[in-house]
Amino acid sequence: MSKKIPTRLYLTEDEIPKFWYNLRADMKDKPEPILHPGTLQNATAADLEGVFCKEPVKQELDDTTRLVPIPDGLQEFYKAYRPAPLIRAYFLERALGTPAEIYYKFEGTNTSGSHKLNSAGAQAYYAKEEGLTSLTTETGAGQWGTAMAMACAFYGLKLTVYMVKVSSQQKPYRKALIETYGANLVPSPSLTTDSGKKILAANPDTGGSLGCAISEAIETAVKTDKCRYVLGSVLNHVLLHQSIIGQETKAALEKYDIKPDIIIGCAGGGSNLGGLISPFMGEKLAGKSKTRFIAVEPASCPSFTRGRYAYDFGDTAMTTPLLRMYTLGNGFIPSANHAGGLRYHGMNSVLSKLYKDGYLEARSEVQTDVFDAAVSFMKTEGILPAPESSHAIKVAIDEAMECKRSGEKKVILFGLTGTGYFDMTAYMAYNDKTMSDHVPTDEELERGFASIPDIPQNK
Ligand SMILES: *Cc1c(COP(=O)(O)O)cnc(C)c1O
Repeated sequence: MSKKIPTRLYLTEDEIPKFWYNLRADMKDKPEPILHPGTLQNATAADLEGVFCKEPVKQELDDTTRLVPIPDGLQEFYKAYRPAPLIRAYFLERALGTPAEIYYKFEGTNTSGSHKLNSAGAQAYYAKEEGLTSLTTETGAGQWGTAMAMACAFYGLKLTVYMVKVSSQQKPYRKALIETYGANLVPSPSLTTDSGKKILAANPDTGGSLGCAISEAIETAVKTDKCRYVLGSVLNHVLLHQSIIGQETKAALEKYDIKPDIIIGCAGGGSNLGGLISPFMGEKLAGKSKTRFIAVEPASCPSFTRGRYAYDFGDTAMTTPLLRMYTLGNGFIPSANHAGGLRYHGMNSVLSKLYKDGYLEARSEVQTDVFDAAVSFMKTEGILPAPESSHAIKVAIDEAMECKRSGEKKVILFGLTGTGYFDMTAYMAYNDKTMSDHVPTDEELERGFASIPDIPQNK
């Protein structure tokens, strides 16, 4: 104690960490293995390489390597927009009148507007190294599609993005941005694939779904020469790439001798939260810290807080390998919610294991409360937050207010995953007071649970 803490805790370019941290290496109780959906045996690299790029598959299955070097050709890409700022929320603290110290790691400074670029860059880099010429992916809210379009433009790869049709209509600027970066955007379902044709034949007016877009993207990747499919969350290799968030945050905090008491992140498929907490969780697992970790999810899609720990498919078309995770069932259809990036039925298997074993806490929040928090934050700190990120803001404010009541001076850190420039329809609904909160009933959840595969491992 006690260096004066600046508003922005800088790292220089040379101080950007050169390694990702693989938390699985330090977990005594490992997450459950991925299963092949046909044989129900542990999935092998060969099973996965038909769809995914080679190096990410290796990373997916690697539970033992602690530090994974970030390749030079990717470090170069990271330097174009990293280090991401770590900011002391002095203005928010003052407005709340809390004795707590609040910090946030801001991942929204790049044009795609979120942390997703960290893994998009990595996956495009490895695809190029492997000699592939094109990639396919899906996008719902549009953040992942934009990040992949940026990364593929940088590394000179062709990209086809299957964008959920309603979303491409509701978010025309997202679509335009993806196309301006040079990607081929196909509203899904489409007539370009057999799975799309089948869905359209059965239901010509459908607005599409993420599950359907995933099926189209995988089909095209498998049928196209030198092409693979990339996914933006949920899987372990994505979490590994996102550990750059936690590695940078830890390096910057250590410069000022700051130790977080509570770390908070929003959770969709779990990649930003997992990336932010990984190095700090490693210390907790080693008994070196008492930091608490809190995942925040929408009350409309409560995978952790109301889900089941079971093997389930990653997509609604039931084509992916089986992942052991907290899930609402692959057939669960969340009600409309403006935090599009958090509308996923399952959760990464590392985080699921940590939650099950009591190392990670979880809360769910309704969207009007989340937007109240977003607006308090933007009026004090100035940054327009993404609806997804605002879930973390909500709980950070709650914890800071708890400190105000108890008089404790805790250090609270949260992940501000992105900006909300493409979400103004949501803010308009909030301003007009037309925003509603839907919390699924137990019966609605039961319908989702019924889609969880009935296999011996789930008994
Ligand atoms: C996609 C997204 C999320 C949620 O994804 P995770 O994999 O859970 O991190 C959160 N915030 C923003 C801004 C996103 O785009």
